[in-house]
Amino acid sequence: MAEKKQLKILFASVEVVPYAKTGGLADVAGSLPQTLAAMGNDVRIVMPRYKIIESDMEYVTDFPVELGPRRETCIVRETSLEVPQDKSKKIPVYFIDNYYYYDRDGIYCYFDDADRFALFCRAVLDMLPKIDFKPDVIHCNDWHTGPICMLLNEKYKKYPYYSNISTVFTVHNLEYQGNFSGDVFKVFNLPPNVFTPEKVEFYGMFSFMKAGLVYGDIINTVSETYAGEILTSKYGEKMEGVLKDRVKDLFGITNGISYDKFNPSEDPRIFKNYGADNYLDKKENKTALQKDVGMPVKDVPMFGLISRLTDQKGLNLILDIADQMLKEDIQFVLLGEGDPYYQDAFRNLSRKYPDKVKTFIEFNAALAQRIYAASDIFLMPSRFEPCGLGQIISIRYGTIPIVRATGGLADTIIDYDKDNKNGNGFSFNEFSSKELLKTFERALKLYKKKPQEWSELVKKVLGLDFSWNQPAEKYMMLYGLAMKKNNGKKAPK
Ligand code: ADP
Repeated sequence: MAEKKQLKILFASVEVVPYAKTGGLADVAGSLPQTLAAMGNDVRIVMPRYKIIESDMEYVTDFPVELGPRRETCIVRETSLEVPQDKSKKIPVYFIDNYYYYDRDGIYCYFDDADRFALFCRAVLDMLPKIDFKPDVIHCNDWHTGPICMLLNEKYKKYPYYSNISTVFTVHNLEYQGNFSGDVFKVFNLPPNVFTPEKVEFYGMFSFMKAGLVYGDIINTVSETYAGEILTSKYGEKMEGVLKDRVKDLFGITNGISYDKFNPSEDPRIFKNYGADNYLDKKENKTALQKDVGMPVKDVPMFGLISRLTDQKGLNLILDIADQMLKEDIQFVLLGEGDPYYQDAFRNLSRKYPDKVKTFIEFNAALAQRIYAASDIFLMPSRFEPCGLGQIISIRYGTIPIVRATGGLADTIIDYDKDNKNGNGFSFNEFSSKELLKTFERALKLYKKKPQEWSELVKKVLGLDFSWNQPAEKYMMLYGLAMKKNNGKKAPK
């Protein structure tokens, strides 16, 4: 890749592959920086140091960080992430460590999450002079990092070290906003005039997400369609007013995936490697998975679903039509964890159809890859979807997605029946089980009645490019805009 633009970029995220992951944010935070580094930028990543992180790391420095009236010790540790596109490069990864707040078994959902991530935000900014890194842009991701944008504008920019640092704030999912009691605002030690409806107050609460949306120099979300949807009351999660005020600075960039990490021709986690040239070998993955999970070994269409089990993912549509779907000679493998209601419902489904349905309630990255590789069709009928990576990973593995056309699913999946030439999946618009059933039947018909055409579709999608190359260029443009906008900019009044 040509080295033309060299920016200093700090990527702040509270989940990053390969260190800690619950969803797509971690995939993005682990792979977009790799492409940006391969383009010649000085990219570094910062995240909290959770107990689950296994990577070796070295002590860099420690310092006290203000949290309300208290001072908490933060230790910075460092490791590095390889850049598969350019083996001569490595990305420094900084971990913010504090034994009390981060040395716990999980990543989220603790009673003091507000303090945990407030501390992270302050520590990220305090760390910069200590590690002698002055980024052109801090790229903040999701609610946990929103206050970095606020703190920079309201507290740090008056110091020369920080005055030229710009921010891009990316919303990966507007549903999770980090709204806490107004008292939480006090931990930032900012003047009360920041806690107003024009700034970070949100219906009486302090909103981490709003702090990012109001103060990010440029804000964006992870697909063009979702960027438009969140301006409406249907998808705006009550932030549509805030977003409308920032519409000139709001962009959508559809995510890519790492074509090195997700590569069916080299992936060591799957049973048999394959690519567009030997796509028929994909079938061996189905046979092997059937044996592995104790399903009858036969050549029937296999449906896969890998997802957090939440209302967002449209799982009730699948449950509504499950009996009709399972009248057909098909198999269905589900991997996910989340809402106990869905966990039980899918467990019950596999009890009812033991030869046809297998349900795995766990987080298992290796099994996920085996399911992507083994399945013929991937189900993703989301109620809303900021971008969605499941459908993109499926395509990379020659697995044809069935999606509801919303957010990033609308931007990445073209319905095959509407456009044979460019089609790469099947999609429907209305969020209803009736529409999902019709789409399921359309996909099944092609698979069963026109096997040759199906094979050509599989071969075609195996050759598509959903890598980070294009989206990373777009991010470079956003970084440029943020830097331009920030020039001489003062905090919002
Ligand atoms: P979201 O970020 O809303 O969870 P995405 O589709 O953007 O959804 O990304 C989900 C990512 O997490 C994908 O890489 C998917 O393969 C992975 N994933 C989801 N659930 C599991 C699971 N139970 N085990 C392993 N990987 C999972």
